Amino acid sequence: MDVIPIMRPWLGAEEAVAVGGVLASGWVAQGPKVAAFEGAVCAALGAPHGVATTSCTTALHMALHALGVGPGAEVVVPSLSFIATTNAPRYVGARPVFADVEPQTQNLTAETVERALGPSTRAVIVVHQAGMPADVDAIASLCEPRGVAVVEDAACAIGSTYRGRPVGAGDNLVTLSFHPRKLLTTGEGGMLLTSDAALARRLRRLRDHGMAVSAHDRHASRSVVVEAYEELGFNYRMTDLQAAVGLVQLGKLDAMVAERRALAERYRDALGDVPGLLLPTDPPYGTTNYQSYLVRLDDELPIERDAVMQELLDRGIASRRGIMAAHLEPACADLSAPELPVTERLTRRSLILPLFHGMDAAQVGRVADALARCVQGAPAWR
Ligand SMILES: *Cc1c(COP(=O)(O)O)cnc(C)c1O
Repeated sequence: MDVIPIMRPWLGAEEAVAVGGVLASGWVAQGPKVAAFEGAVCAALGAPHGVATTSCTTALHMALHALGVGPGAEVVVPSLSFIATTNAPRYVGARPVFADVEPQTQNLTAETVERALGPSTRAVIVVHQAGMPADVDAIASLCEPRGVAVVEDAACAIGSTYRGRPVGAGDNLVTLSFHPRKLLTTGEGGMLLTSDAALARRLRRLRDHGMAVSAHDRHASRSVVVEAYEELGFNYRMTDLQAAVGLVQLGKLDAMVAERRALAERYRDALGDVPGLLLPTDPPYGTTNYQSYLVRLDDELPIERDAVMQELLDRGIASRRGIMAAHLEPACADLSAPELPVTERLTRRSLILPLFHGMDAAQVGRVADALARCVQGAPAWR
């Protein structure tokens, strides 16, 4: 029996050809392809400026650094997120302060953020978890009068929409990921999006050792250019090899999102009436790209999440636990955490089902069947 994987990136001969072209050009580090990829992502999302990076993690680090967040500052984050969200404030010497989430979207809300704000809060990292858009305007309205910056961790959310526009098109600093577990991949990679031209210039410099002029511009110049290092920077540059893959991947975004949404619809048709299962759905203010199909087990359902995952695996179906809770990890043992009842329930009671481009109706049927049987076979239910 072949195992149905949790996901599979959609890569083909087109990406290989694009990489071959970059190799043949002799310019493989950050150069014209990165610039073209930045422009293409901005055009696709309606974002004014894009700054490519090595990952979403390094993009988050630079975002906080560029905002001047440092020692003594607090940054509100959801514990319910990949650990990079919590780590970013720690890289700049700030303290992550955990806020709870609400169960439908598994995201922060203005209410949960408000409880975590204090006199030292300098920024909030709002995650669009698993592609599900968070109500970021409500959080920004709360933060703006207090001088608290909002950074959107949209690692999973390229192709999702918020209030009629693509996630990433607003006025906040936004970070994207191009890790293979997300929709579009460049192997590893990330991008910062901003509407602030001066901030974009600074971010370009920061990712390139604080250099005033990029290596590519120096090579292209007809006159001698001696570079200056204007501030402490990093090497967070994407390569042209990666950007060439990204350009091809970006051309597939609309098809990817459409197919994921159609597959999610099939899951809903098959599982919507199974008592004890709570399925993801679009919030009233936006649409998700279903980066992950995140299913929650009702609290009353007398079956452990891990037992469900094992039963699925026994039937040849991969699944993953729901979103991790950073405050429960040993790496965060030194961080104090408030009560996070929703986070702890969601991390314990959620699981991710297979969803990938090229998945067929029969595979969705097999997964849904196995899950329904498992849940309906739970003892003493209802
Ligand atoms: C994957 C992910 C990241 C990290 O992305 P990388 O590109 O792998 O660094 C950060 N935040 C969230 C919410 C993620 O899902």
